[in-house]
Amino acid sequence: MNAMVDGFGRRIEYLRISVTDKCNLRCVYCMPLEGLDWLRKEEILTYEEIASVIGAMAPMGLRRVRFTGGEPLVRRDLHRLVRMTAEVPGIEDISLSTNAILLAGQAEDLRRAGVKRVNVSLDSLRPDRVDAIARRPDSFEKVMAGLDAAERVGFDPIKLNVVLIRDQNDDEVEDFAELTLDRPWHVRFIEMMPTGANLDLSDGSYLSCQEALDRVRAIDALEPVEGPSGNGPATYYRFPGAPGTIGVITPMSHNFCDRCNRMRLTADGHLRPCLFGDLQTNLRDPLRKGEDLRPLIEETLRIKPERHHLVRGSSAGSGGLVALSQTGG
Ligand code: SAM
Ligand code: SF4
Repeated sequence: MNAMVDGFGRRIEYLRISVTDKCNLRCVYCMPLEGLDWLRKEEILTYEEIASVIGAMAPMGLRRVRFTGGEPLVRRDLHRLVRMTAEVPGIEDISLSTNAILLAGQAEDLRRAGVKRVNVSLDSLRPDRVDAIARRPDSFEKVMAGLDAAERVGFDPIKLNVVLIRDQNDDEVEDFAELTLDRPWHVRFIEMMPTGANLDLSDGSYLSCQEALDRVRAIDALEPVEGPSGNGPATYYRFPGAPGTIGVITPMSHNFCDRCNRMRLTADGHLRPCLFGDLQTNLRDPLRKGEDLRPLIEETLRIKPERHHLVRGSSAGSGGLVALSQTGG
């Protein structure tokens, strides 16, 4: 079987694809209230072009694809791209990262087209706080409707992504953990990463996953577990007998780059070997000229850095990235 192996011996079989840089929310840690300099329509890859990139990478060893953004569900008929992806030989798993605002209306189509599992961002269990963090009214009800639909259509596993923000949601760590006693959900606490747009917040309101775990352990003992399918960067735990798990994603306190298994495709067709840094390869222009993408993909694999160098309070390590929404998080 073909495999994409980088210069540090890591096998890359997973591509996170940002289908749009736009979003219907303005999460405090991610996107500035006024938005960003949006890409123009003609700069953004069409679904056919995205499918061509997937088609070029699958024979090289790509097995799993995740659609993300910006908010992927604001792009029209995403299920069409999912279906095209499911038809590429070699692709075994298609997943979605979403804020779930629009999920209730699309879950059925997405499931039928081939999405198996979803990650939903939810930073609080209190309606007023969700709206305040997302900076859009009525967000909570829509996300809950999206989660109901996700369960109904059978997305499995369902993972909840919770970015830890001191003084905005840190007193809910226990509530999130206790959710896993009732539901088969996988709650993942994420350490806030610095980007150009959030330097003050990501420094002043940073909370480590260690602190969150200490609070959770005060409720009951946690046992380390394998975690749900997906082999991501999270480390998982469970309360004894609980149907769900608690995961921690520690980009700031415990670097996990040695386990990295992914590359990223931006909405405007740049293949990025790392979420951070300024390394990227323009696939869009060669693709539009009908050139072979394989040597460009191999070159991107070759330059994949050993690790990121994020530093709290500094944009140096993020390589000019203003918001994670620009590269898909
Ligand atoms: N809009 C979708 C969503 O929110 O799930 C997908 C894109 S979003 C950029 C992907 C993930 O990145 C979300 O879970 C979000 O909470 C997380 N994220 C965004 N900015 C972050 C930051 N500065 N630090 C840590 N996580 C961040
Ligand atoms: Fe949008 Fe996701 Fe960024 Fe929130 S985290 S602003 S939902 S892209």
